[in-house]
Amino acid sequence: MDFHKIFHEVATKPYDRARQWKQETSQKIIGYFCSYTPEEIIHAAGALPFRIFGGEVSIANADGHLQAYCCSLAKGGLEEALAGRLSFLDGTVFPHTCDTMQRLSDIWRLNLGFPVHFDVVLPAKLNSESSFDYMAAILRKFKNDLARALGIEITDDRLRESIRLYNQIRKALQEIYILRSENPGIVSGSNVYEMMKAAMVMDRVEFLASVSKFLSEMKQEPKATGKRRNKRIILTGGICNHPDIYSVLEESGGVVIWDDLCTGARYFDGQMDETIDPIEAIARRYFERIICPTKHRDNACRGENLVKIAKEQKADGVIFLFLKLCDPHAFDYPYLKEYLDLEGVPNMLLEVEGQIPATGQLRTRVDAFLEML
Ligand code: SF4
Ligand code: SF4
Repeated sequence: MDFHKIFHEVATKPYDRARQWKQETSQKIIGYFCSYTPEEIIHAAGALPFRIFGGEVSIANADGHLQAYCCSLAKGGLEEALAGRLSFLDGTVFPHTCDTMQRLSDIWRLNLGFPVHFDVVLPAKLNSESSFDYMAAILRKFKNDLARALGIEITDDRLRESIRLYNQIRKALQEIYILRSENPGIVSGSNVYEMMKAAMVMDRVEFLASVSKFLSEMKQEPKATGKRRNKRIILTGGICNHPDIYSVLEESGGVVIWDDLCTGARYFDGQMDETIDPIEAIARRYFERIICPTKHRDNACRGENLVKIAKEQKADGVIFLFLKLCDPHAFDYPYLKEYLDLEGVPNMLLEVEGQIPATGQLRTRVDAFLEML
């Protein structure tokens, strides 16, 4: 079976797929923007968690609601909803992260009229017992509110089943990343991007079946050989909805071998304990997983983690891939760069919005960076 074709179809037409799924199953679909959304709880409620990417559309209506300084993720998502393209959603979940998302949540609730809307006000500090207890209490409240809104009971057994499923998905994705790092020619960056996008929008049982078979096929592949060794690159940032960055890099002699993106490795990072209280297991993973810049653990963990990944993956260079106007990532950039510079890891910053241009300044900068490695 051509799994790339399946993932490609889902990643390029996620709305068609979601509508078809809803028609076939008569189940609910809950939208979300951020990897701090407790998908396991949504899944245990019998609904499909559907990640909204935004970003690729030209903005016509969203500017009337959001300030000019908001990122393309917020604007693009709102534009899609205002245009009615997300009408298959039964509701949306907004975890408490950056200011833009919090404001978007209010605008979303007041202007779009989806049947259910949740603000999941998770703590910003993820480093103390009291914030862990608070996190668990918020997740428990979300579970109860969602169950009430969808008219379903979310039992611990259902939650455990969802946790098991997500653990299997995360394990398979991690194994695919490891295989790619060991054998970079085995799968293209855009194929991995499409697989990750499918993981966040597709029926999760169906996705697990496809990704597991894809993994078995990958394990049979012979090691890619070739005289030219491409430069091993790590992407770091938040959401990546830019498949073209992979082809730009590959055409310039680079290859992405790992990432630190919330639509990439941070999505599958960390298994949940299947033996403890399921809500505590979800909270525990958020506490143990490397944070994104909208959360706080200490002043060094993100820098140390980036250096660790770069060393473990034998990276030739790191590219910071940020959405323009994303303050949380921009604020962390100087300190992360300093960590890499001190360790002698070459790095560059790319700020993108919407589509990546096929030619022009960005490509020239990528070419120059890879040449310098
Ligand atoms: S960067 Fe952080 S806040 Fe933004 S979507 Fe990713 S996990 Fe959420
Ligand atoms: S963290 Fe950055 S990219 Fe994500 S919603 Fe906030 S401003 Fe936008």
